[in-house]
Amino acid sequence: MHNIQANYNLKELNTFGIEAFSKYFCSFDNTDQLKELLQLNNVRNEEKLILGGGSNLLFTKNFEGIVLKNDIPNIDLVSEDANEITLKVGAGVNWHEFVMYCVNNKYYGIENLSLIPGSVGAAPMQNIGAYGVEVKNVITLVEAIEITSGETTSFKNNECSFDYRSSIFKTTHKNQFVISYVHFKLSKQPDFNISYGAIASELEKMKVQELNIKDISQAVINIRSNKLPNPKEIGNAGSFFKNPVVKNDIVEAISKEFPEAPIYKVNDNESKLAAGWLIEQCGWKGKQIKNYGVHAKQALVLVNYGGATGKEIYDLSESILQSVKEKFDIELEREVNIY
Ligand code: FAD
Ligand code: NAP
Repeated sequence: MHNIQANYNLKELNTFGIEAFSKYFCSFDNTDQLKELLQLNNVRNEEKLILGGGSNLLFTKNFEGIVLKNDIPNIDLVSEDANEITLKVGAGVNWHEFVMYCVNNKYYGIENLSLIPGSVGAAPMQNIGAYGVEVKNVITLVEAIEITSGETTSFKNNECSFDYRSSIFKTTHKNQFVISYVHFKLSKQPDFNISYGAIASELEKMKVQELNIKDISQAVINIRSNKLPNPKEIGNAGSFFKNPVVKNDIVEAISKEFPEAPIYKVNDNESKLAAGWLIEQCGWKGKQIKNYGVHAKQALVLVNYGGATGKEIYDLSESILQSVKEKFDIELEREVNIY
């Protein structure tokens, strides 16, 4: 039996804490249940939104369709040898809990991705990344159910078109598949990456003598807890915009006018600019409008102090886009999924 509920309040299911209602709502915790659901007439004809932890979306209006909440559990062993382990993880598993499972078992590769909110199933969507590590480095296979046919299919890593905060699931295949399981290959040998951001200085502060997975994970947790608003206290969905990757001529013009601008070379022709810095230069950092605004410690994060509407936050993002366009002639792209 499927417990399909009508006029469902999504406020507790999105980290922005936006009050929005879906016409219908149902959760599922296995693929058979999902396939049955997708065949029901009143589900088949509705627009669908697959929901994980709701930490990378903004509801700008009520959702006039069915929200299907993915609660598929479990971490299962696929294969293991002396050097590597492959795990098959249910899309509904909480991402940070999975990272902690790996940290505690000394499976190396995703410790820099500690404390990212959301579900395992959403991780391939935008190829989650932080501190110089992207999840594409460890994903071997994505299992998914096609929404229209209900058929199970799978995508090897090289079939997912993983890119900076992007994959086929966010682009060409958007809204076509429900990711059910993700396979991860992790190393049993340490190969740490602490060169990015504040990790090394945080480890020094923690007085860590010998590098180890637990302390690196803890360093990331400390930095993040200090800098990012906790969605349980202040509504947000992390970085609202992607960092723009721009051609050398634009980079040269910006660095001439702003020698202090953070610029990270991507290849011989392009560099990445920090969107947070661009937004800050436009005067938005820490700005509060009624009960929403731009976070004081990281201008990339838009916040809902309580009671804001998704439309207000979307309009704020539009104003920010326009400011950056006017000042730098750069068009920022939203990272957060808008509904
Ligand atoms: P949701 O918000 O539920 O969904 C996001 C999108 O994916 C939606 O379009 C949804 O339909 C789709 N989707 C979700 N699950 C599935 C599925 N099983 N099958 C098909 N489609 C699905 N992101 C980073 O990359 N790096 C960071 O460092 C980072 N830090 C963050 C910090 C904070 C404080 C917050 C609030 C967010 C942060 N994020 C970060 C963004 C977010 O946590 C990630 O993108 C996360 O992977 C979203 O997972 P979710 O389950 O909450 O996805
Ligand atoms: P930060 O360390 O203050 O750095 C600012 C920006 O500079 C980041 O966006 C990062 O790009 C870039 N950067 C820093 N060091 C770099 C290096 N050595 N090489 C290339 N680029 C570098 O950023 P932060 O806000 O505290 O975030 C720390 C990490 O967590 C970042 O990787 C960020 O992406 C991630 N994060 C993501 C979200 C999200 O919702 N997507 C939210 C919070 C934090 P990158 O973003 O490309 O890494």
